[in-house]
Amino acid sequence: MKTKEHINVVWLKRDLRLQDNEAISNALKSGKRVLIVYVFEHLLLNDAHYSKRHFNFIKESLRDLNENLAAHQTKILTVTSDISSVFNQLQAFHKIDTVFSHVETGLLVTYNRDKEFKRYCRNNLIHWEESKNNGVERGLVNRDNWFENWETYMNSPLEVFQPSDNQLLNLSEIETLENVLSETNLTTPEDTKFQKGGTTMGWKYANSFFENRHVDYMVNISKPEASRTSCSRISPYIAWGNLSIRQVFQKAKQLKSTTQDKRHIGAFISRLRWQAHFIQKFEMEHTMENASVNKGYHKLKKTLSERYQNAWKDGQTGFPLVDASMRCLIETGYVNFRMRAMLASFFTHILWQPWQSATTHLSQQFLDFEPGIHFPQLQMQAGETGINNLRIYNPTLNGLKHDPDAEFIKKWVPELAHLDIPFIHEPYLMTEMEQAFYSFKLGEDYPMPIVDVKENRKRASKILWNMKKDPEVLRESYRILKRHTLQDRKRMLRSD
Ligand SMILES: Cc1cc2nc3c(=O)[nH]c(=O)nc-3n(C[C@H](O)[C@H](O)[C@H](O)COP(=O)(O)OP(=O)(O)OC[C@H]3O[C@@H](n4cnc5c(N)ncnc54)[C@H](O)[C@@H]3O)c2cc1C
Repeated sequence: MKTKEHINVVWLKRDLRLQDNEAISNALKSGKRVLIVYVFEHLLLNDAHYSKRHFNFIKESLRDLNENLAAHQTKILTVTSDISSVFNQLQAFHKIDTVFSHVETGLLVTYNRDKEFKRYCRNNLIHWEESKNNGVERGLVNRDNWFENWETYMNSPLEVFQPSDNQLLNLSEIETLENVLSETNLTTPEDTKFQKGGTTMGWKYANSFFENRHVDYMVNISKPEASRTSCSRISPYIAWGNLSIRQVFQKAKQLKSTTQDKRHIGAFISRLRWQAHFIQKFEMEHTMENASVNKGYHKLKKTLSERYQNAWKDGQTGFPLVDASMRCLIETGYVNFRMRAMLASFFTHILWQPWQSATTHLSQQFLDFEPGIHFPQLQMQAGETGINNLRIYNPTLNGLKHDPDAEFIKKWVPELAHLDIPFIHEPYLMTEMEQAFYSFKLGEDYPMPIVDVKENRKRASKILWNMKKDPEVLRESYRILKRHTLQDRKRMLRSD
């Protein structure tokens, strides 16, 4: 019987890039021949947090990788299956010595899958080597020196993709494997408004931001329409690993040393720090996926309303900026930070619904869904951490301030577009006569407001402010600060 060749495998997860990919570099440094694999896992295909837009983005990213790998006569082995089944099948062809991947700060299902895969590797005498992802550390108990370590990592040299000749399994070897494993079709629909996946596209967004789009970054960051071009829009490329934070950080630092717009680039760099800060928090408190990090809030009970939840999900609440943001998010996969915060605040404060009921709808819509940012942000916006200021957004005032000409609302709530400005922001103020002048019928052409914002803001504010003084909330706040606050908090939060 022919002896099997010993190879190493790179298991790509949310690190869909060739450059500055430590898992790939380490596999190549081993000197053995290497196979790079991506698995569309049933456990994620069936998970309620994910949706088609995510898998299409991944497929586009894989096609982009394959275009670059063509120069090396190889491609990614892409299959739809479960991870252990894939390795069982691969072992029929090769002896696998080491699997290289990045540590994944993901959902509980992926954490459990990793534990199972560790057992699988042990039982099959396979070594599994995981690299640190974007400076996030596994196994920390507090944040002592966290910031210094993150910065040292971000300033360290980038990994360079440099396979030696024939080191990567070639196309015909991969095709042989594809014939046995269940190969995934990588075609995706063309006619969507979503950002297209892939490192090539990721750099187009990053470079155009660094070259010119950053000039009004902080001026436009809260505006729903202008932020779409003034913000970097690199979040999906970071979330799926088309770009590493280190690559972007180093480019931004370089630009900052030469540009006049230091304030804008500095503010951008501080957000790259927040990215890791939030993910680190989630890494150290994985129960945040289902319950508030501050256990004092577990006693907060809210009455579920299917009617309110559906109106919010469909962009039919009767509050123009809320509805415009939701409809835009559904169609494009993106709204800026402030509109995300407002959508979360509207749901949890004004509609008084538990943040847990908003998670899967939002994660399915955000093209950049990143569990480590998503859950901590939702809890922060819901006012259930005990350590952050309570912010209850007023949707009308936010509209008047950040979308004064209603440019954004007109685009996404076209049934209001023919009204004059004050009415676009507050159609419910129109009298019967005014509605007749504009041939507009409130309740028919556009919904009546589903709740009384003023009353509901008051209720939420009263309950949540009182809870801040609850002994259990205070005890938990102290625990959270001790575990998650950086010694050098000011430096972390500075705009550079
Ligand atoms: C309820 C809620 C849920 C969110 N869920 C996600 C999510 O799943 N994935 C995600 O990437 N961001 C999430 N954010 C954070 C933020 O809204 C997005 O990162 C940002 O809008 C992405 O746009 P951009 O790339 O143009 O950002 P830029 O302003 O150009 O920032 C550059 C990068 O910094 C990081 N960043 C920016 N703002 C934040 C922040 N507040 N916290 C952490 N990192 C930040 C992102 O990686 C971003 O791409 C969420 C915010 C809220 C309020």
